Amino acid sequence: MAFATKEEYTKMAGNFIHDIIDEDLRTEKHTHIITRFPPEPNGYLHVGHAKSLCLNFGTALKYGGTCNLRYDDTNPVKEDIEFVKSIENDVNWLGFQWDKKLWASDYFDTMYEAAVELIKKNKAFVCELTPEQIREHRGTLTNPGTESPYRNRPIEESLELFEKMRAGEFEDGEVCLRAKIDMASPNINMRDPVIYRVVHASHHNTGDKWCVYPMYDFAHPIEDAIEGITHSLCTLEFEDHRPLYDWVINEVGFWPNPPRQIEFARLNITTMLMSKRLLKKLVDDGSVSGWDDPRLPTLAGLRRRGYTPESIRKFCDDIGVSKADSTIDIAQLEQCAREDLQSKVSAINVITNPIKVVIDNYPEDKIEMCTVENNSKVPEMGNREIPFGREIWIDGDDFMEVPARKYFRLYPGNEVRLKGAYFITCNEVVKNEDGSVKELHCTYDPETKSGSDFTGRKVKGTIHFVEASTAVKVGIREYGYLLTENEETGDQEFDKDSLVETWGYAEPSVKGVKPGERFQFFRKGYYIADTEMSTEDNKVFNSIVGLKSSWK
Ligand code: ATP
Ligand code: MG
Repeated sequence: MAFATKEEYTKMAGNFIHDIIDEDLRTEKHTHIITRFPPEPNGYLHVGHAKSLCLNFGTALKYGGTCNLRYDDTNPVKEDIEFVKSIENDVNWLGFQWDKKLWASDYFDTMYEAAVELIKKNKAFVCELTPEQIREHRGTLTNPGTESPYRNRPIEESLELFEKMRAGEFEDGEVCLRAKIDMASPNINMRDPVIYRVVHASHHNTGDKWCVYPMYDFAHPIEDAIEGITHSLCTLEFEDHRPLYDWVINEVGFWPNPPRQIEFARLNITTMLMSKRLLKKLVDDGSVSGWDDPRLPTLAGLRRRGYTPESIRKFCDDIGVSKADSTIDIAQLEQCAREDLQSKVSAINVITNPIKVVIDNYPEDKIEMCTVENNSKVPEMGNREIPFGREIWIDGDDFMEVPARKYFRLYPGNEVRLKGAYFITCNEVVKNEDGSVKELHCTYDPETKSGSDFTGRKVKGTIHFVEASTAVKVGIREYGYLLTENEETGDQEFDKDSLVETWGYAEPSVKGVKPGERFQFFRKGYYIADTEMSTEDNKVFNSIVGLKSSWK
C-alpha cells in the first residue's frame, strides 16, 4: 500500500480553508492542526467522500497535523459492521492513515451528562409533543415558531423525565429532549431543536446499553471538541447548522480552544449518483452487481473498475475546494485515470472485432517471435515477444473493402505495417454467404521485418494483430455510464444498457495475467483483469477508460 505523502500535499493548490489555517497558525490560535473524517457507517464510501478524505487527510499531511477516522454512529438503526470494514479498507486504499480510530458512541456517556447539565442550566427541556406536532410548531422561513407547552416545565421535572427516557420508560417518539434556544430565530435550526430522542434499538458498539441517542447536531460538536479538532470541515448543507454547532460548544463548553466548523461544496459528477441512500437502492434491487460494481462511484467500484488511488487523489486536487456548488464532468475524472495509467501500464494486443487474415506466402507451420515495446512512452518498460504466423486476427476497424478518403489501413491492394512484424498487402477478400467478410488473403514481404534495416519504401498505416493459433479468448466487460437521461421525462435514471459483455482474442502473454493487473489494450483503451471473475484459464477484463479524452 503506497500512502499519500506530505510532499504530495505540500505541492497541492491551496484553498480558502488553508488560508484560514495559515492565519490560525500565524496568530498562534493553533500550533497543531487536527482534522477528522466522520463517515456514517450506513453504506460504502463514494468519490464524494474521496473529496472530503483528501481535504481532511491532505490538510493534516500538509500541515504536519493529524486526522482522525471517526464513525458517526449515532443512528443505531441504519448502521452495519460490513460498512465499517469497507470504510477502513477504502480509506487506506485511497492512501490515508488515520491517527486515531474513534466512534461517536465512545462519547455517549459524556453526551448524556452534557445533556443533563443543559437541563440543569435551564437550556434544555423534555418535550412531550409528537414529532408531527414539533414539526407543526416549528414555523416557516417567514413565520416564527410556537413555543412548546412543555418548554417552561420545572427543571426537576425535565431531569426526572430524561432519566425515565434513559431507563426505557417511553416508546420511540413519545418524548424527546430539546434545546431551549429561540422559537423566533430566523434560523429554523435554532428553534428549540431536538437533541436527544428515544430509539429502542441495539447499537453495534454499545449493544442495549442505551435507548436514548443524541441527534447529530448535538453530538458532532461535542465529538469534535473532545478530540481537539481544530477545523471541522463539512459540506455546505451544514452551513445553516453552524450557529447550533457553536451554541452547543458554548453551552456545553469546557474547551479553551474549541473547533471551528467550515463548510465546502459537495462533489457532484455528471452521470453519477452521489448518495449512499440511492446507491444502496441500486445495490438492493439488483440493478448492479454489488457495492463494488464497476459502474458505481463507490471507491470499491472505482477500484474494481481499475482506477488507481493516485488518479482519484489527483482528481480531488484538480477540482479544488470552494464554497460554490458545481457539477464536474465525468470526463475530468476519466482524464485523471488516463494520465496516470499512460506511463504505468504495458500494452497488450487484443482483437475485439476480429477478421481472419491468411498470409498465403508465409510457411504453413512456422511461428516466429516478434519484438514489441511494452509502452512507447516509457522505453524503460522494455519489450516483449509476440508470436507471428500464417494466420492472424486483425481488428475489423482496420479493414475497409472500399476505403474512405484518407483511410490508410488495410484495403484491397493496399500495403500496411503489422506492428512488430512485416508489411502485408491485401490481395483478396473472401465473403460468407451473407456477404460479410470471411477472411482476407494477403502476402507479406520478408524484407520488411520490424527492427531490420529495411528502407525500401514506407507505408502510411500501421495496425496490430494477434496470431491465430496461439490466441487466447478473453472476456471483456465494456462499461458505460451509470445514469442516462430518460428521453421522455428528461430525468436521470439507471442505464440498463450500461454493461456490454463481449470478448476478444488476446496475445498469449495474457495467460500469466493476475487479477487486478492493468493494461492498455493496444490502440483501444485501458483495461483491468477483474478481481472477481478472472481465473487461471478464464480471464475477464473491465474497461477502465478509452484512449481519447472528450474533456476540454
Ligand atoms: P450520503 O448523502 O452519500 O450518505 P453523507 O454526507 O451522509 O453522504 P457521511 O458518511 O455523513 O455521508 O459523510 C462523511 C463525510 O463525507 C462528511 O463530512 C460529508 O460532508 C462528506 N461527504 C459526503 N458526500 C460528499 C460529497 N459528495 N462531496 C464532498 N464531501 C462529501
Ligand atoms: Mg450523513
